Amino acid sequence: MPKRGTAMPGGRNNSARPARAWTQWHDQAACAELSSRLFYGQESESPAERATREQTALAVCETCPVRNPCRSHAMSLPEMYGVWGGTTEAHRKGARRWSRGRQYEEAQRAS
Ligand code: SF4
Repeated sequence: MPKRGTAMPGGRNNSARPARAWTQWHDQAACAELSSRLFYGQESESPAERATREQTALAVCETCPVRNPCRSHAMSLPEMYGVWGGTTEAHRKGARRWSRGRQYEEAQRAS
């Protein structure tokens, strides 16, 4: 278990997570001992600060052995905030929008 004040995967407390699904991969997280501030921005963060912070966090994700399950977790909940599985909030928002568009197109074709 990471020390108090350090990040769980993606920097988030896992108290609301299904224990079994979460613990299958989080112990191997490259971010487990890092500050959650790297993965979650402050409200006062400027766009330039955000970009720098996110690039640093994404570089950690690049080295992480559990990047794929972390990303799947973030997309399936979905996690709305923070860097997860090599994706930023903006990445995941764009992916959700694209997925909804695909579902709409498929429903239109089927009707
Ligand atoms: S992929 Fe990134 S956010 Fe997910 S556990 Fe690894 S380092 Fe943390």
